[in-house]
Amino acid sequence: MTQKERNGVKFKQYTLQNIDEILQLQQLTEHQRFELEVLARVFPFKTNRYVVDELIDWHNIPEDPIYQLTFPQRGMLSDAEYDRVAEIVRSGNGSGEQLAAAVDEIRYNLNPHPAGQMEMNVPVWEGERIEGVQHKYDETALFFPQAGQTCHAYCTFCFRWAQFVGIDELRFAAPNMDRFVQYLKAHPEITDVLITGGDPMVMNSKMLRKVIEPLLDPELEHLQNIRIGTKSLAYWPHKYVDERDAPEVLEALAAVVKAGKHLAIMAHFNHHRELDPPIVAEAAQRLQAIGAVIRTQSPLIRHINDDPKVWEKMWERQVQLGMVPYYMFVERDTGARDYFAVPLAEAYQIYREAIRNVSGLARTARGPSMSATPGKVEIQGIAEVGNEKFFVLRLIQARNAEWVQRPFFARFDPDATWLNQLVPAFGESEQFFDSQLQVGERDGLPGAIRM
Ligand SMILES: *Cc1c(COP(=O)(O)O)cnc(C)c1O
Ligand code: SF4
Repeated sequence: MTQKERNGVKFKQYTLQNIDEILQLQQLTEHQRFELEVLARVFPFKTNRYVVDELIDWHNIPEDPIYQLTFPQRGMLSDAEYDRVAEIVRSGNGSGEQLAAAVDEIRYNLNPHPAGQMEMNVPVWEGERIEGVQHKYDETALFFPQAGQTCHAYCTFCFRWAQFVGIDELRFAAPNMDRFVQYLKAHPEITDVLITGGDPMVMNSKMLRKVIEPLLDPELEHLQNIRIGTKSLAYWPHKYVDERDAPEVLEALAAVVKAGKHLAIMAHFNHHRELDPPIVAEAAQRLQAIGAVIRTQSPLIRHINDDPKVWEKMWERQVQLGMVPYYMFVERDTGARDYFAVPLAEAYQIYREAIRNVSGLARTARGPSMSATPGKVEIQGIAEVGNEKFFVLRLIQARNAEWVQRPFFARFDPDATWLNQLVPAFGESEQFFDSQLQVGERDGLPGAIRM
């Protein structure tokens, strides 16, 4: 172990409270500073020294994609919304009730619960809800450990933003593992557990062990794959390299492989620049050395990665680092969606252009995919037959396993950004799965499922 590793590195974060430290460092104008202060009252804002020092190109703000990724942007609010909050902040009445009321109202207009859909996938078993769990697809259960419901930095586009500003009050987090393990024992069809958040890799080794060890119970032999959804490789790779706890963190994870199960790190990267610092390669190697396979996923987001070249470079670099590109997602309909949304037609073109320019090894990325009520809907293509142009779609993952891979069609619409805006093609009145979704559950009416 080197001297540096023994000393460890300290994680330092920035929020609205100590925002001046970064701003002074980076010499923002008074106007930029004020704008940020206004925006950070409405949207979750948290970043850290690694992101600020290593990832953001401060010579290129506000356009810099990593700046767009972690600092709330003016375009995320309408002029009226912005002016309303700005006026209160300017008048110095900054922490008063008036501000709280204005902020609340704006947040509620941003569709903080795309339909209270978190509820829809919470399993009820023996008459009791299993808190902190979602079980939507037969083979995979999601687990939200309570200690993992925050992140090393917040992404501006995150669909879980409501949780981070306190609207959801971590109501989705599991207080303990016991009920979940019992549920798993009673459900032999579950082969995969996805530990998710927030970012579960904010947990230290001790907390991680508490989540992982119960899953390695010999009675859970049917559990083959433990997945961990995390953005830590982008926001805090020190976690695996030179933080004091790094060896224990790796050991806690290695227990999965030692128990004969597959350890899948579902890494969230939005831009190839996040892969540039050498410490990312080092972190990846350490994870791979314990037997983990790193798969990558990202939504397609305006202002951050709405360019096929960015995806091409990102996927190429990931493959070079031994990672497996997995999903390209469509951004969901919550938060500052007008600012971040990319129409489905454009998303498909970006995917296609990027994928055809990369090695076959990087063509493992599927998408663009919408996590919607019936399941994960992939845009497979845009076709033209006779005079009609339409989207070719399929369910990669479905609430009902029988629907998986069955192609279906929607009328072409260059502006549509989500499944609920698509009209079935060929004069059909509904898609094949619609009648089987419960009344009111049609995608987009109550809203999209959160992953
Ligand atoms: C994406 C997702 C999964 C995992 O799906 P895979 O295609 O197996 O990666 C599981 N549960 C939910 C709710 C999801 O959104
Ligand atoms: S949950 Fe994931 S996408 Fe959301 S802020 Fe945290 S790291 Fe970003």
